[in-house]
Amino acid sequence: MSDLFYYLVPAILVVIFIQFHLHFSRKQYQKHAKVLKAAEEEGLTEPPSLHPVVDLSICMGSGACVRSCPEKALGVIDGKGVLINPTHCIGHGACAPACPVGAIRLVFGTAKRGIEIPEVNPEFETNLKGIYIAGELGGMGLIRNAVRQGVQAVNNIAALPRGKFDHDLVIVGAGPAGIAASLAAEAAKLSYVTIEQEDSLGGTTYHYPRNKLVMTAPMKLPLIGEIKVREVSKEQLMEIWQGVLEKAKPAVRFSERMEGITPETEGFTIRTNKGAYRTASILLAIGRRGTPRKLGAPGEEHPKVVYRLIEAEQYKNKCVLVVGGGDSALEAAFDVAAEPGSVVALSYRGKAFDRVKPKNRQRLEDAVAANQLNLLMDSTVKNITPDSVTLMRAGEPIELANDAIIVCAGGELPTPFLKKIGIKVEARYGT
Ligand SMILES: Cc1cc2nc3c(=O)[nH]c(=O)nc-3n(C[C@H](O)[C@H](O)[C@H](O)COP(=O)(O)OP(=O)(O)OC[C@H]3O[C@@H](n4cnc5c(N)ncnc54)[C@H](O)[C@@H]3O)c2cc1C
Ligand code: SF4
Repeated sequence: MSDLFYYLVPAILVVIFIQFHLHFSRKQYQKHAKVLKAAEEEGLTEPPSLHPVVDLSICMGSGACVRSCPEKALGVIDGKGVLINPTHCIGHGACAPACPVGAIRLVFGTAKRGIEIPEVNPEFETNLKGIYIAGELGGMGLIRNAVRQGVQAVNNIAALPRGKFDHDLVIVGAGPAGIAASLAAEAAKLSYVTIEQEDSLGGTTYHYPRNKLVMTAPMKLPLIGEIKVREVSKEQLMEIWQGVLEKAKPAVRFSERMEGITPETEGFTIRTNKGAYRTASILLAIGRRGTPRKLGAPGEEHPKVVYRLIEAEQYKNKCVLVVGGGDSALEAAFDVAAEPGSVVALSYRGKAFDRVKPKNRQRLEDAVAANQLNLLMDSTVKNITPDSVTLMRAGEPIELANDAIIVCAGGELPTPFLKKIGIKVEARYGT
């Protein structure tokens, strides 16, 4: 009896444990398969940059990568690691070292969608002598990498003999790479200026969703010292950038967009929407999001015109015009229309929403039928004043009361610009 008890009870416990484990795994597989299916149905299958590829012949489905991924981009389905939410992967690379059997490789691009990466040497200089690239534009995402590269690139530039130009350096972009580069230029006493097309500091980090948990690593910023952060909220990160601006006062010129670069016999002229700079070197820290396409309508420079939806709450009780015909325009219009008291019009110059997800097309029909949206197809923005906007449709003007305009008309991506000025760019297809 006692022997039976001795062997049977542990055996029963083991069986219960295995059953429980199998049940839990099945539930997890189902959950992950559902996420993958939703991503596939919405066509969200291509990771934006560096991402993991799992070698299925080695993977043993431990799930270590799933637990390590802060963006919930990975899952385990039928005992194998899978990128279930490809567009959420931002290339932390935390999954690769977490894998106990080394089944994960980090690559750029996929066989279907190549990623264009500019060629730079170890000093971050491109094939155009004097033009440097740091941060996400160079292919390496993440705040800590952008900061490190921004500082290193400027330290390399500072070691060069000073030229006879108005500026030793123009830094383009004030995201993490541009902020760190500006501090390094300030510390090295370079004659420099940083131009940023937006009116805010932080680049992509400024556009994170509210309260996003930002995973990073301690960073050393010139003139500031070590910022000992690993996990911070988006808001805390914005306070850090703001503190940097107030303490070190780098020469950042906001709302100034680089529009062209002309190589001179020595150095460059860099053209912006506000003027031109003659400079010996240029550091492009412009990330990969590109420059939003403008409407080209009089009054567009008014601050009420923005090029992406940040917080829908700010549009409560406001008259808002959303312009564009893609998913981002539709989704911005739905979010704003959900705010109490908002009055939303959606203007699109096309005759049909050909490129949007079926789900959004249905939502649009429902919103129009429920009078939540004033849909103005085949219309263009003609004029913007502080409290109104005039559209043209079939040759007739339509004037709307207006407090804000959100333009979602796509953007000009940075790599065509790089190619145009002669910087060598290599397309990577999963390598
Ligand atoms: C949703 C999301 C979540 C993320 N989460 C994390 C995270 O948790 N941890 C992490 O480390 N990383 C995260 N990342 C990645 C990280 O934000 C980027 O790698 C980082 O911001 C890159 O910095 P950057 O300075 O190279 O470029 P960006 O931050 O993109 O800054 C580029 C700047 O250049 C400006 N610019 C562009 N063109 C011009 C022009 N023509 N003239 C003037 N200015 C111009 C832009 O306006 C922008 O301010 C995340 C990214 C996304 C999209
Ligand atoms: S690279 Fe980062 S975001 Fe992408 S799956 Fe791995 S841990 Fe997640």
